[in-house]
Amino acid sequence: MSTVIAEAPLDVLADFPAIPAGWAYLDTAATSQKPQAVVDAITRGYGETYATVHRGVYQRSADMTLAYEAARRRVAGFIGAATPDEIVFVRGATEAINLVAECWAAQQLKPGDRIMLSMLEHHSNIVPWQMAAEKSGAAIDVCPLTSDGRIDLDALESLLTERHKLVALAHVSNVLGSVLDASRASELAHRVGAKILIDGCQAVPRLAVDVAAIGCDFYVFSAHKLYGPTGIGVLWGRGDLLSRMPPYQGGGSMIDKVSFERTTYAPPPGRFEAGTPHIVGALGLHAAIDYVEGIGLDRIHVHEAALVRDARERLGALNSVRLLGPEDSAGIVSFVVEGVHPHDVATILDEGQVAIRAGHHCAQPLMAALGVEATARASFGVYNGAADVEALVKGIERVTRIFG
Ligand code: PMP
Repeated sequence: MSTVIAEAPLDVLADFPAIPAGWAYLDTAATSQKPQAVVDAITRGYGETYATVHRGVYQRSADMTLAYEAARRRVAGFIGAATPDEIVFVRGATEAINLVAECWAAQQLKPGDRIMLSMLEHHSNIVPWQMAAEKSGAAIDVCPLTSDGRIDLDALESLLTERHKLVALAHVSNVLGSVLDASRASELAHRVGAKILIDGCQAVPRLAVDVAAIGCDFYVFSAHKLYGPTGIGVLWGRGDLLSRMPPYQGGGSMIDKVSFERTTYAPPPGRFEAGTPHIVGALGLHAAIDYVEGIGLDRIHVHEAALVRDARERLGALNSVRLLGPEDSAGIVSFVVEGVHPHDVATILDEGQVAIRAGHHCAQPLMAALGVEATARASFGVYNGAADVEALVKGIERVTRIFG
């Protein structure tokens, strides 16, 4: 067992009674398992406290409205937003990016303008911008990576021009685990007058995030990777930007006044939350934030960094394994076993109760840049420990034996 891990054991497996003994769940980057506290919050939300929000004058609805808005305040505090009005509840990071692409980019961009992405982006931080570019006549540029798989900020600095109006980058890569210096990226974007959106999906479960300290304009994440429920996520936007953006969808709740002659819209965040929201999802997200902050993101980061170091060291010692991504990747280890398709790797590991992800991880341009079709990816969460790394390494040794 790694001595580093022994220094920082989280020992929270008991909070996850649904994880069976002996199962090495190493797919947290896709979605995290849920602590009982989140399951209980959701059960209570749909149980004895359930009612709609914002409309009812009866007590239970008023109480649920308070709980829903308390979740918004909790999220604001969690990421350092200036006010809860800057927190828009959406279905997930994908919807958050689509919202900005539709309500900011497609409105603001003109032919000749440029959008800067990076080579390691998730499809959900590529395709919405392609759609916005098509609508507005803007063009897309791609920032390259360093040889160890980080977004190359020196290259970004030299590539950015005054024609770039938007930069959109992942805070942590879902494939390589590379961590972006998001403050420097924001500074570089602002230097040329561009706005910057940070995709924080893989960052919020493992790094303390403060949008004010980063200095970005938009920040997005999904609750389900943060030990919370699916179907809810967050768009944070600077208040002055959100208040100038048109609505995303029309319907109930997002209006100020409706008549057939003229409809006016509610201020943010209500303007962007048409229809009955995912009320219980917000309560689950609140419980998830309480959970991770109860452990402490600094401790989570140290814990996962130790697991990554241990896994990289031991996998790297196997001749058959080629590790991808930087040494200090956050919570995520991507690799290929030479001569074995990652799907075969994942299938054999599953026979030994080790759950990893194999595929392109919704990052096909990155796969092309790496010169691979797919990778095997092990990703860690608070519930993992040295035994999971051990099971992973044993599994890969078995793969190597089977494939000779
Ligand atoms: N960005 C990154 C970096 C991700 O890892 C993911 C999820 N794999 C997404 C965006 C999209 O998140 P969701 O599917 O929850 O909307």
